[in-house]
Amino acid sequence: MVNLSASVSLPTCQNYIAGAWSPSSAPTPTTPVFNPSTGEALAACPVGTALDAEAAIASAASAFPAWSETPPVDRARVFFRFRHLVEQNFERLTALISREHGKTAVEAKGDLHRGLENIEYACGIPTLLMGDTLENIARGVDCETLHQPLGVCVGITPFNFPAMVPLWMFPLAIACGNTFVLKPSEKVPLTAIALVELLAEAGLPKGVLNLVHGGKEVVDTLLKHPTVKAVSFVGSTPVAKYIHETAVLHGKRSQANGGAKNYIVVMPDADMGKTVENLATAAFGCAGERCMAGSTALVVGSAAQKLLPDLVAAAKAIQVGPTDRAAQPHMGALITAAHRDRVADLVSTGETEGAKILADGRGLRVPEAPSGFYLGPTIVDDVQAHMKLAREEVFGPVLNVMRMDDLDAAIATANKSAYGNGAAIFTNSGLAAREFKHRVKAGMVGINVGVPATMAMFPFTGWDDSFFGDLHIQGKEAVQFYTRQKVVSSRWFTEGVGDVWKK
Ligand code: NAD
Repeated sequence: MVNLSASVSLPTCQNYIAGAWSPSSAPTPTTPVFNPSTGEALAACPVGTALDAEAAIASAASAFPAWSETPPVDRARVFFRFRHLVEQNFERLTALISREHGKTAVEAKGDLHRGLENIEYACGIPTLLMGDTLENIARGVDCETLHQPLGVCVGITPFNFPAMVPLWMFPLAIACGNTFVLKPSEKVPLTAIALVELLAEAGLPKGVLNLVHGGKEVVDTLLKHPTVKAVSFVGSTPVAKYIHETAVLHGKRSQANGGAKNYIVVMPDADMGKTVENLATAAFGCAGERCMAGSTALVVGSAAQKLLPDLVAAAKAIQVGPTDRAAQPHMGALITAAHRDRVADLVSTGETEGAKILADGRGLRVPEAPSGFYLGPTIVDDVQAHMKLAREEVFGPVLNVMRMDDLDAAIATANKSAYGNGAAIFTNSGLAAREFKHRVKAGMVGINVGVPATMAMFPFTGWDDSFFGDLHIQGKEAVQFYTRQKVVSSRWFTEGVGDVWKK
């Protein structure tokens, strides 16, 4: 819920604790939630206090005994109803995503669709929680596995997928029988608030899901509190590493997804028309603010002449503009002015270090929204591995082009990256595709698929600096993450065992 407070001109986001919306426990500073399309502030998000986090944890802890004993079929029914409500409110939610994030209506629908698939996955919890049994592991002794919830789990989410990333976490954690505290991104808290309201409407008991806004103090309290059993995080690599190390040090399970630098190899035998289309979407979709954005094209040999003229034309044809109105552009704004400026500066460092700008989105003017945070599609050629632009995650609509002699060189370049989220190849050669998928050092691989982000039933398998932990978000790995196994061996003493079969 967002309430208009008398003391400030912007609506201030409230916490959801024990089934009630309430302001932060103390007057704390707030950060603005912008509409990136226009640059206007929409709301204020409180920085929050340790007390807020403690209250949310206490609420989740007191709801745990009853919720964990609720039969999985009943827990699933809450998520069937939630799914229905999200569908009924689809337009409203996607408009909110566009408004606070700046992505287009189509991209906002994609964001929420991916989230819906995670709710649907959670609806299968009675089947997902089924264990194994083996009769007669020794004479008269049977063995079975049980998957039991952990207790209070925590989710800390980034700005770039306001619906999908929170929905990666709380539906499955709660369906597994846990209770939850969500700390959404302070840049996009409004979608998270709307989702929490809908889950309450779906009949989730009070205290099972709590939402607390905040910054480092709130996050640190969640990470260190003895009651919290597991932490799911998605965000940038330095924060992911910190979250994981702190959570583990305090005895919690942790899964922390970090940033990325994803390579797309283009072989000379690729279908160039389709490659241009897919590469442009991979690099510039969601304005490049995706952890699976195809941010570097490794163009092999003669592929460059065939690819680049059409790719540059495609980039220049992308219309950029406000996404909060009926007429939709192809691409929206970046999340904040500061982030837009950082992206532009990174492009400039590449230029200074000798790279060539083939399409330049810096300084783009959008007359109908002059204060929006815009940067147009940018293509930088002749990027070299030592350049800052090649090493750092840009997280904007910028495609680096690196020229490669052959597939071996392309795989070696991709494999030098500290990250390991996604990688893709465009080719018509089965052999090249096989070599690539076998040798590339990344957890999600696309063959003629530019953004090989996994769906709800598969784990989101980042490697290296793109993931800290053991069990990934989504799929069966996430069910394992949110439960602990108990193996029960049982024997019943009686004289007549086996007689029943003899008769
Ligand atoms: P971020 O790391 O700045 O923030 C993520 C969350 O951590 C937010 O809730 C924020 O409030 C909190 N946070 C930030 N600094 C903190 C600190 N010092 N201590 C404690 N908490 C802190 O990330 P962002 O800018 O919101 O999101 C973009 C990043 O997320 C990119 O790097 C992107 O690649 C990554 N991302 C990764 C995946 C993935 O699955 N690998 C998916 C989406 C986004």
